[in-house]
Amino acid sequence: MSKYVFVTGGVVSSLGKGITAASLGRLLIERGLRVTIQKLDPYINVDPGTMNPAQHGEVFVTEDGIETDLDIGHYERFLDKNFDKNCNYTSGKIYSNIIAKERKGEYLGATIQVVPHVTSEIKAMMRNCDSPDIDVVIVEVGGTVGDMEGMAFLEAIRQFERELKEGNYCHIHCTLVPYLECAGEVKTKPTQHSVKELTSMGLNPDIVVCRTGKNVELTPQQKKKIAMFCNLESDAHVIHNPDCETIYEVPSVISKQGLDRIVCDILKLDAGELDLSKWQEMASLYVSDLPTVNIAIVGKYTEVLDSYISVIEAIKHAAISNKYRAKISIVSSEDIEMMGAKDILKNFDGVVVPGGFGSRGIEGKISTAQYCRESKVPYLGLCLGMQIAVIEFARNVVGLGGANSTEFEENTQHPVIDIMPEQRDIEDKGATMRLGAYNCHLEDNSLARRLYGMPDIKERHRHRYEFNNEYRERFARAGMTFSGINPEKDLVEIVEYEDHPFFIASQFHPEFKSRPNKPHPLFVGLIRQAIASKPKR
Ligand code: GLN
Repeated sequence: MSKYVFVTGGVVSSLGKGITAASLGRLLIERGLRVTIQKLDPYINVDPGTMNPAQHGEVFVTEDGIETDLDIGHYERFLDKNFDKNCNYTSGKIYSNIIAKERKGEYLGATIQVVPHVTSEIKAMMRNCDSPDIDVVIVEVGGTVGDMEGMAFLEAIRQFERELKEGNYCHIHCTLVPYLECAGEVKTKPTQHSVKELTSMGLNPDIVVCRTGKNVELTPQQKKKIAMFCNLESDAHVIHNPDCETIYEVPSVISKQGLDRIVCDILKLDAGELDLSKWQEMASLYVSDLPTVNIAIVGKYTEVLDSYISVIEAIKHAAISNKYRAKISIVSSEDIEMMGAKDILKNFDGVVVPGGFGSRGIEGKISTAQYCRESKVPYLGLCLGMQIAVIEFARNVVGLGGANSTEFEENTQHPVIDIMPEQRDIEDKGATMRLGAYNCHLEDNSLARRLYGMPDIKERHRHRYEFNNEYRERFARAGMTFSGINPEKDLVEIVEYEDHPFFIASQFHPEFKSRPNKPHPLFVGLIRQAIASKPKR
């Protein structure tokens, strides 16, 4: 039977619960344990696929094609393993399961209620992760304690803890400990209130992880105070989690205070000694003194960095592997529409046009692709970034004036990017795209083939529109190379230009597969070329 660690949060959201959960996962793995993580999100959407990234951050996609919360991306990067459909459940998903069962008559005349039906469904989802191959399941609950949507989840955990029995579960509560400038000290009161709220739901944390700003100290006295008010076994169960220069340092910061050891003790796990040396070696590169390479991400969700979190991390991984540090700027494609690509992008060493939906800022992205193609600036297009490159090439090289994607102009004269026929009449806006991993064959002698170093790959998708194969020959004659093709459906997966030092764009999202210890070849290639062409421009 697997043992469970529950991670809840209080005081404010965006506390880095996901990073804490992922870091603990890494530490337990480095002690020889087999670990998985599950995220429970109390919001009502069935999955985050229909949410605006500017509000909720990026939508992460698993190998098996599930649209998930961005924390799953952190889990994959920290644990270096692929997650599947069991990794993320929302209230919407839980309720839709229940309603489907109710319609089938599976509840046999019962009145369906939050307790026991919703809580039982939540427990069943948590139990889905229980397996003889897994020693520890970490369950992170989204939102903060006290949120109305989260009640059923906390009640389910309370019941589940009773069923699991002591020694088989452990509860970690993450809170914010603010530093008050005027008082010159940190305040523990919000943490006390948050734990009080949790205990009122029948849950007693074993460990409290206190998030503070950078360089803020949490003294032994303050830890003692928190431990006492929060009814913890000892002040060692108060873990300080300050802002770090890189998230990859968090495992080391929390393990120095014994978090993994305490968890193993509570769970009575016979774990090995911690060996974090390899991870730490990798993490220290992120804070070492390195030259910088300037990369622009030209997108439209410029307010929230989390909107492009996997792209940002993939760029950082690739830069570090090239012994450089990436200085990343999110550039608004609407600004490019107003001011022109050259003026805004001239000081960047490389450009990434990431995924996106809808027509806002599209023309700015098209001029970005044109500028990068003509000025030989390294360009990596991701999903929409590939479609953009195709539209630009159609208009300015093939001579198809007004070419467009039917996503932006339904009756365009030249639909070079078009919706797949099977997608045309689907009205359901959830999980109806080409989602998850698909095969891709790479052409011999192409840049893609050289970068990957193998002829066949699998990459993750999330889109409705595709390159329109009716235009393939004309494009090839004009100089576009179709270097990656999905063999099953003959779909274009990668395009590139031979007479350019580095212009490559994929219909898939390579960023989802980049890991801090395994940078993605397309990003590694981009950074390598960005560094190489730096002094020449
Ligand atoms: N909007 C485009 C499509 O649906 C691209 C999607 C994306 O970039 N993820 O095909």
